[in-house]
Formats: sequence, C-alpha cells, structure tokens
Amino acid sequence: MPLRLFNTLSGQLDELVPMDGKTLRMYACGPTVYDYGHIGNFRTFLQIDVLRRFLKRNGTSVFHVMNITDVDDRIIKNAAAAGISIGQYTARFEQAFLEDIEALRVQHPEQLARATEHIPQMVELIQRLAAAGAAYQTEDGSWYFRLASFPEYGKLSKKDLSGMEDGARVDLDEYEKDSARDFALWKAAKPGETFWDTAIGRGRPGWHIECSAMAMEYLGESFDLHAGGEDLMFPHHENEIAQSESATHKPFARHWMHVRFLLVEGRKMSKSEGNFFTLRDLLLKGYKASAIRLALISVPYRHQLNFTFDGLIEATNAIDRLRTFHHRLRNTNWPMGTSYVQAGPEAEVIEAVKTAKTKFHAALSNDLNTAEARAAIFDLVRTINTLADSERLFRSDIAAILDVLRDFDAVFDVLEDNDAEPTRRALEWAAQAGRLGDVAPELLARKSLTDEAIDALVAEREVARKQRNFARADQIRNELAEKGVVIEDSKDGVRWKRK
Ligand SMILES: [Zn+2]
Repeated sequence: MPLRLFNTLSGQLDELVPMDGKTLRMYACGPTVYDYGHIGNFRTFLQIDVLRRFLKRNGTSVFHVMNITDVDDRIIKNAAAAGISIGQYTARFEQAFLEDIEALRVQHPEQLARATEHIPQMVELIQRLAAAGAAYQTEDGSWYFRLASFPEYGKLSKKDLSGMEDGARVDLDEYEKDSARDFALWKAAKPGETFWDTAIGRGRPGWHIECSAMAMEYLGESFDLHAGGEDLMFPHHENEIAQSESATHKPFARHWMHVRFLLVEGRKMSKSEGNFFTLRDLLLKGYKASAIRLALISVPYRHQLNFTFDGLIEATNAIDRLRTFHHRLRNTNWPMGTSYVQAGPEAEVIEAVKTAKTKFHAALSNDLNTAEARAAIFDLVRTINTLADSERLFRSDIAAILDVLRDFDAVFDVLEDNDAEPTRRALEWAAQAGRLGDVAPELLARKSLTDEAIDALVAEREVARKQRNFARADQIRNELAEKGVVIEDSKDGVRWKRK
C-alpha cells in the first residue's frame, strides 16, 4: 500500500513515491541554532522521523537533508551581546540540538548541511538570479529578490497577493506580512557584523537562500519532498520556491509537508505565558524521553496537538503497558497445548494479529495517521493479554505477535528502555547550567542514592528474579541505571558500581 501524504502544494493527498523509482530525496528545514529547541520544534522533527521510518519500513530508501542555520539576525545579535564569534555561539546550541534529537530517538538525516559552509553555492545562485533578472542590488550593496518577476508567488500558501507592492522591500530573516515584498537574498555587511568577502560583495546570506542553495546542492534542482513546520510555509517556503524555480525553470520540490503547531495546556506556547518548554525542561521535571516522544507523535501531524502533563503521564503508562506486554511474551514459558484445544484460540490469535497489522499499515499509509496506528497495537495488546490470562495463548502464537510489535517499534521506537541516559545527561547539563533548582525532587533523591539503598534495591531485584517477576527486576535495574548505577550479573553473584 503506497503512502498517501497531504501535499500543501496540490492541496490534496498525493502518493509519495521517489521520482527516480529508487530513493526518496527529501529536504527538511532544520533548526536555527541560537537557543535550545522547544517541544514545538521537536514535534516537527519527530513527525518527519515517523515519515522517514515508515518509508524505510516499506522498503523505500531515503536521502534526507537537513540544514543547520548557523547565521541569521538573532545569532549575530546574541553572539555580539556575548562578545564571541558566531561560530563559538552556535557550536554549543548545535551540539545541544543533536543531543536532544538523539534523546528523542530521531534518526539522523543522511546529510546535515551548515549554512556557513555553503556560502559559495548561495553566491552562485544569487548570480544566476541576477542574470535572469530576478535579483537586483541596492545602493548599500544588499541583494533582493524581485517578486514581480515570479507571477506564481503564493502558489504554496495560497495567499492572495494581488495587493503586492512592486519594489517594496524587507530585509528581516523572519517577517509576517500580509502583502509580500521583495526579500533579502544577501545582506551587505553593517559595521562590526560577520561578513564573507564574495563576488557579489561583502555580506552574508539571507535565511531563505540558504535552504534553496543547500537543497539543490545535495538533491538536485528537482526533488521529491520538502518538509517543515507550518510556520515556515509563508514566507520561507514560498521564497524558497520563488528563488529556486526562477533560477532553474523546473519545479523545486514536488511534494510539501507541513507539521502543525502544538498548544500547551490549551494555549499557544509562549515564554510570557509560562508554558514554554524545552526538551531539557521536561527531562528535569522527571518525564522520560520515550514518553515525550510518544506524546509528541501520537497525534497525527496535520492535527493540532494539545500537549499536556496529563498526556505525558498517559504516554508514560502506555509505554509501561507495552514494555510489560513485550516482556511477558518473551519471558513466559507458554504451553505447547494440544491440537484440538489450540484450534479455537489459535484462530483468535491469528485473526487479532492480522487485524492489527493491516490496521497499523493502513493508518500510517493514510497520511501518517499515528493515532489510529497506535490504537491498532493497543487493541492487540488487550486481546492477547485476555487470551493469555485465560490460558488460551500458546507457544506457537508468540512469534507472529512479536513480529507485529517489531513493525510498530520500527516507527514508534519506544519498546526498548533507553530512558536512563537522556535523564542522566540532562542532570549533568543542569549541574553545569546552574539549573539544579529546576530538577524535580524525586529525580534528585534518586540521584543521591546511598550505598545501603542501592544494596537494598539489588537484593529486592534478586528476590523478584527468583520469583520470575522479571518486569519488576527490570524496572529496578532501569531505575538504578537512571541514577548512574550499573548492575553486573556474574556467576559469583551480583555486583554494582556507580558510573
Ligand atoms: Zn528552510
């Protein structure tokens, strides 16, 4: 079943297939590394992660390019205020971003592209636009895109631009104007600002030209998919199309995917409202990275997600249920049963497995409906648990159920408990960043475990193992790991050490 994905450009669900029949070439707008990423940013990156994982799961290979915007108005301002170079300023936030997406188990794009490492490509593109009459230079040495030269402007965002004022200009990287204006491709250096000395003068690129130049550098003049948050549709993506298609006279990206904004506790997220959260804020409050991942992907990307703390707790419990189920399947000595007893229940299992698998794939193929895909798997968990509780589950059934879970986890990636490391790293960061005051008391208490408390937990784990209560034993091991305590089982008994 091919994936049908909403295409902002065509305004309908279109099949997403590689135009070369082999590799899906996609570009996703990455972060501007001037601060820590917030959960709204990560929702976008996670939904794009769901897309690429589902494509790969279905056997489509993916070449995914993501830019790192490491020069823009805010970066220049903040670096100057801190008295450091823009490179020094952005390195720290780029590192933080990469750590954060790793914590959320977002797969790495095949190609990361830093804006400051592609200045020659941007200059060349501006020269092409100038030669085509679509770019002009102003007296101060800046270059602008001539909107009037591109009559299709507005075709992505479907904005009515009839009131467009010819020659009116804007030089900000980000703007929200009802009427579109000629936008800056290249900004002449102002005194004291970082600049590059190039054939089109001393200055630095505008934000929009970066993505056009880097997308074409790695993906060619036409490629399959361009993705980003809905806030980028206008003007950023509209400008990317105008620049790219004016230079090449070819369609830039065939398919455009936009991820909707989220609300936090029913309101727009903003620092002044006090409901603005980075990933690190949530980890310090004691929420697990896997629960944050699940909460951010469980609502389909075109729907507005209302992110709440109740929702995070629900996601935490859902993951516990799944992990316990997975553990039960693998660690129970399921009966062989006899054929006449098996015939009924086996048919039930086969039916449940088939339904879950079909629904899961159908949901994701239908514009990445993660909510329905997730529900299909939890229905299966419920059905199988009921059969197992009434001793109607047999050894021969297990492989097929595990197979569906593997399918689910290839996209959702929450089954394996990898939560200790992101939490440990967030605590380490909090200590360095002077944020220990924001750490949840339970988390701090767990961190400051005494040797006696560890001995007691290790002993409790041994008892649990002897009673074959592996879920509890694993839970203790994970809790200790979260606090930096590693348990080593050997034939001489159990030892532990602090990391
Ligand atoms: Zn972009």
